[in-house]
Amino acid sequence: MYDLFTTRYEFACPERGEASVALPSFRRIEQLPGAAHPAVYEVSFDCSCGGRHPGLVSHDELDWAPLGLGEGVFLNLMTAKLDPLEDELADLAARRIQAGEWPWSFFCYPEERPRPIFPSSFFLLAPANDRSSVGIAVRCPGCDSVSVNLVSAEHVDLPFHNDAEIGVVEHVFHADAERAVEEFTGELYSARFDSRRLSL
Ligand SMILES: [Zn+2]
Ligand SMILES: [Zn+2]
Repeated sequence: MYDLFTTRYEFACPERGEASVALPSFRRIEQLPGAAHPAVYEVSFDCSCGGRHPGLVSHDELDWAPLGLGEGVFLNLMTAKLDPLEDELADLAARRIQAGEWPWSFFCYPEERPRPIFPSSFFLLAPANDRSSVGIAVRCPGCDSVSVNLVSAEHVDLPFHNDAEIGVVEHVFHADAERAVEEFTGELYSARFDSRRLSL
């Protein structure tokens, strides 16, 4: 489902059969109730056919596969071949995390601090007015509140790429999913973003 060569997730497209989707084209990520081990997430994504489709992704694929910790393989960047997972990429990711770097992060507005996250904490995503940045609604793993940030596509797409400065909506969002969706859409296009430094 996750392709390390292209850094895209593979889903079914009713128009074209297959869709290759980058994380910033996800629009909604929700954990399905019930299946806890492994957890399964239902996503909706904007497809290159112009439509929006649903897809399913396991917790491992969503959070770990982009770090090379997927299904026992990793991409050898020197040879561009998939090698058995033994060390390098997983080891490198582990060492960077131990050194205080985090693959993904966001700024929690109620707590006024940056926090590390994984893609499963992205709850809603939408292209911003300028099209080059992405609005993200994140459920904070620390305090469980919802914050909305404005970040670059790379901040979402590339592990260990964290924007130095990001936009933060100065608004405490409703924890209820449906209400948060409405508020998110409203706030995202109101352009009331304040910038925050994101060094963890
Ligand atoms: Zn499609
Ligand atoms: Zn928080």
